[in-house]
Amino acid sequence: LLMAYDPARRLAKLQVHLERAVVNARMIYALLDLQPQQREKPGARDLVVTEARIEFRGVSFAYASGDLVLRGVDLVADGGRTTALVGPSGAGKSTIINLIPRFYDPSEGCILIDGQDITDVTKMSLRQHIAYVSQQPYLFEGTIRDNIRYGRPEATDAEVEEAARLAFAHDFILAQPFGYETPVGENGVTLSGGQRQRLSIARALVRNAPILLLDEATSALDNESEAAVQKALETAMSGRTVIVIAHRLSTVVNADKIIVMHEGRAVEEGTHETLAQREDGLYARLNNLQSPDTSP
Ligand code: ATP
Repeated sequence: LLMAYDPARRLAKLQVHLERAVVNARMIYALLDLQPQQREKPGARDLVVTEARIEFRGVSFAYASGDLVLRGVDLVADGGRTTALVGPSGAGKSTIINLIPRFYDPSEGCILIDGQDITDVTKMSLRQHIAYVSQQPYLFEGTIRDNIRYGRPEATDAEVEEAARLAFAHDFILAQPFGYETPVGENGVTLSGGQRQRLSIARALVRNAPILLLDEATSALDNESEAAVQKALETAMSGRTVIVIAHRLSTVVNADKIIVMHEGRAVEEGTHETLAQREDGLYARLNNLQSPDTSP
């Protein structure tokens, strides 16, 4: 029985590792691609980025499992600006983000970057221009340096360290037992949530991509970490086209544009000031719900 059990258990473990590896590879845009429907067109050209302006035109989308989760979304994320997506859970915010690196393709409509339909360009060139910071930063088995360099494998040591400095991570890295060579991941040192997030921001910074997709963390960090992560994010966002799934009021207030999602549609658009004044609007209602202390 034991003999039968052990390989099965090992296989199950391997499966977990594989699944995690796939998720991880997708998150940081490795070239591994298991979804045949997102194949490249023959003769696809490289994406040419000038302003990094992103436009959704009449985008509808359903996951294989069922109903439409985006219904004719039109939106523009202006080049070099921050666009915040807000709205109730299930409204389609993460799906919008998933379509930009072509993890999935729209069922209808198209997505343009600087006027080029992203299904007409090579996936490699598309993903080279995109960095992603997720809610739950993933660290793999390896050193701190490896984990940052994963954003751009050819980055030099100096570039890795510069990214870490900009992400307010350099000092805590030097305080680790072996500095940048300290192992992290399952068998390495344990880092706090805020430190992991700053490493993931450093990974995005070393990538130096003009488009940053950001899923803001909902879980609370201690105040000191929170401030450091916030500063790191501000650095990462500056000068880039950012689409952020916003959970913090400060992010929304500072965004150049807010898009309110509801049941797969972009239902309102504007700045915090303009949207908050629309008393019958969804944004004004959400805003009052989420921040009772700021409502009159
Ligand atoms: P949240 O804030 O809760 O993350 P969201 O606005 O980001 O919500 P999405 O995650 O885009 O919303 O989800 C939109 C809808 O699509 C939901 O009904 C969700 O259950 C469904 N969905 C999301 N991802 C998948 C998937 N991989 N396969 C099938 N359905 C999915």
